[in-house]
Amino acid sequence: MHKLLVKLSSSSSSFSSNPLRHSKNQRFILPLLPSSITSNPFTASGSPPRPSIPANRFISRFGYPCSADLFRKSPTLCSNSTTFGVIWSSRCISSEAGRESIEYDVLIVGAGPAGLSAAIRLKQLCQQNNIDLSVCVVEKGAEVGAHIISGNVFEPLALDELLPHWRQQQAPIEIPASSDKFWFLTKDRAISLPSPFDNKGNYVISLSQLVRWLGGKAEELGTEIYPGFSASEVLYDASDKVVGIATRDMGISKDGSKKENFQPGVDIKGRVTLFAEGCRGSLSEKIIKKYKLREEVNAQHQTYALGIKEVWEIDESKHNPGEVVHTLGWPLDPKTYGGSFLYHMNDRQIALGLVVALNYKNPFLNPYEEFQKLKHHPAIKRVLEGGTVLQYGARTLNEGGFQ
Ligand SMILES: Cc1cc2nc3c(=O)[nH]c(=O)nc-3n(C[C@H](O)[C@H](O)[C@H](O)COP(=O)(O)OP(=O)(O)OC[C@H]3O[C@@H](n4cnc5c(N)ncnc54)[C@H](O)[C@@H]3O)c2cc1C
Repeated sequence: MHKLLVKLSSSSSSFSSNPLRHSKNQRFILPLLPSSITSNPFTASGSPPRPSIPANRFISRFGYPCSADLFRKSPTLCSNSTTFGVIWSSRCISSEAGRESIEYDVLIVGAGPAGLSAAIRLKQLCQQNNIDLSVCVVEKGAEVGAHIISGNVFEPLALDELLPHWRQQQAPIEIPASSDKFWFLTKDRAISLPSPFDNKGNYVISLSQLVRWLGGKAEELGTEIYPGFSASEVLYDASDKVVGIATRDMGISKDGSKKENFQPGVDIKGRVTLFAEGCRGSLSEKIIKKYKLREEVNAQHQTYALGIKEVWEIDESKHNPGEVVHTLGWPLDPKTYGGSFLYHMNDRQIALGLVVALNYKNPFLNPYEEFQKLKHHPAIKRVLEGGTVLQYGARTLNEGGFQ
């Protein structure tokens, strides 16, 4: 199963003015769906039930979603000579030198399947253990799901563990994988081979839609999700422990001076900060290097591929919901690892993509051009003709590790 590298800084005390300074640092490799966790990793705050909070999308005076203004409306103020702010349970907003600082029990960076699953699981554990932890997810996409481009054959085992009743809860998982084709392509032929995949019991879905649905589930459980926040910096305390992230200042001119529209970034702190940025996350990479996480477990270096994908609406007569096609060979040369996929989703839509491993030797190879060529292969062109492109995107994928 997919694993997340997590740097946990856990504190045995509830928040004081700077509780993070007293925190004990621990490192964990946390499974994506930690169903095996039964003990409470945090100290029960013993706080009264929190008033329900309208979900997300509060636009701060800084022009992007921010909970800071929301917190200021809370009746309980915490103040001292240098900070002002509001405390709600273990969540606090303060402002120093024009920079907002918001504190949570758990801060999750990235609202992809991993980050949202972790948020949901944490909140489930809170309910089971009758404790109240504030969980915040920051997402750089303008909305949850906006940066998720995977057109996807989905294996539901992990979701069965996380939300066993998803089938009764309108999850956007409707089209069972109905056939598995595996073709070796030459320039003008598609040679059928026995499929190495077993997609029985799997579904053809839009991962972006599933992630939006997961976001709703996380919010129902009390997670605060803030799209439009890009974590640009890791925050450390004096003893080099991770205490959260900072968002970037906006409105800085090329020479470094502040423009009229300057908006300072926000510090978002967590007793635990979980990095779920997906493949080659910018902050995760820094943390992996800083704490030598690969060296510590003698891990292999990671390898990557680029996935280019388009969603097409095709002619009804060519649409076969649930059909799954993978190809090898043309247009890639024999030395380049990769292949294409064509998944028939619902509503006459298909996901067509090409994955090219990024260790290709030919410096002139252009994955985008190879994808254009693929669309002209007779076996693919036949499906696309008369259709319309609805969406397109590209994203790196991990090639190593558990798949
Ligand atoms: C073209 C393609 C096809 C694929 N097909 C399949 C398939 O058929 N089946 C399958 O099981 N898997 C497939 N995958 C892989 C699958 O998409 C990933 O394994 C999965 O999305 C990983 O989930 P994640 O939550 O770890 O990361 P991601 O899905 O990448 O989510 C990370 C989230 O974090 C956000 N983020 C990143 N950095 C920051 C930051 N600094 N601040 C704030 N937010 C941040 C991103 O915007 C994103 O929303 C495919 C991938 C691609 C690219």
